[in-house]
Amino acid sequence: SKAKLFDEKTDIKTTFKDVAGLEGAKEEIQEIVEFLKNPEKYTNLGGKIPKGALLVGPPGTGKTLLAKAVAGEAQVPFFSLSGSDFVEMFVGVGASRVRDLFKQAKEKSPAIIFIDEIDAVGRARGKSNMSGGNDERENTLNQLLTEMDGFGTNSNVIVLAATNRADVLDKALMRAGRFDRQIFVDLPDIRERAEIFKVHLAPLKKVEGLDTEFLAKQTPGFSGADIANVCNEAALIAARNNKTAVDKQDFLDAVDRIVGGLEKKNKIVT
Ligand code: ATP
Repeated sequence: SKAKLFDEKTDIKTTFKDVAGLEGAKEEIQEIVEFLKNPEKYTNLGGKIPKGALLVGPPGTGKTLLAKAVAGEAQVPFFSLSGSDFVEMFVGVGASRVRDLFKQAKEKSPAIIFIDEIDAVGRARGKSNMSGGNDERENTLNQLLTEMDGFGTNSNVIVLAATNRADVLDKALMRAGRFDRQIFVDLPDIRERAEIFKVHLAPLKKVEGLDTEFLAKQTPGFSGADIANVCNEAALIAARNNKTAVDKQDFLDAVDRIVGGLEKKNKIVT
């Protein structure tokens, strides 16, 4: 059986409204929406539209969400895949899969290609750990570089890639005409956490007057993904207790659970 390497989505409903906080990142990436919607405006004056941008930041901070929102705002198809899938699932075919991906995206252009965990393919070359499979990774990376160099500035495919380790990436990826822009997507501050709570509280049946600033205060160090988790967990806790609306205590219990989970995870790492 042939697993699908990449996912293709059209008619994406995600927009910048779904991305709370991250004002700076949204502002920077807004330009890419403009390039996709109206390329001639830029190329007419002799400018070259960027081919790629790197979204850099810790896990769960909304990099995927932001990339998807670009596709949603510009109303272009969204081709996505994870760098780790490349390397783990398709030994011997990584390079041809990259070719396939770019071919399809070009056929449907304007389009966004999103590569999550680019570090899995994009780690600096020549630092082999002798574990084998490294040639495969390098072939895949080389093909990715070739594709990015190959498509003309008017092909109107923009590649967004996400990583939490920009420092380990092969410098060749960051060269002009490739991922030559970096957009930082950081953990939310207290004000941003309140905003993220607002987004994820919206679909819940909850008591009135829940204080998002209070919830933000209870969740230092939480990512957007953690906050989404808290909201979902709170709804499940309330349901388990046969409540008809999620209340403050459910959120506090959910925060405790998530904190417990995070501590466990950190213990395994260290
Ligand atoms: P990873 O590095 O682990 O792939 P990521 O940065 O790509 O993480 P996302 O997958 O975008 O993170 O975030 C996971 C989920 O967390 C989102 O689908 C969304 O529900 C929630 N989330 C994260 N950041 C935000 C945000 N800024 N605003 C609203 N929701 C957010």
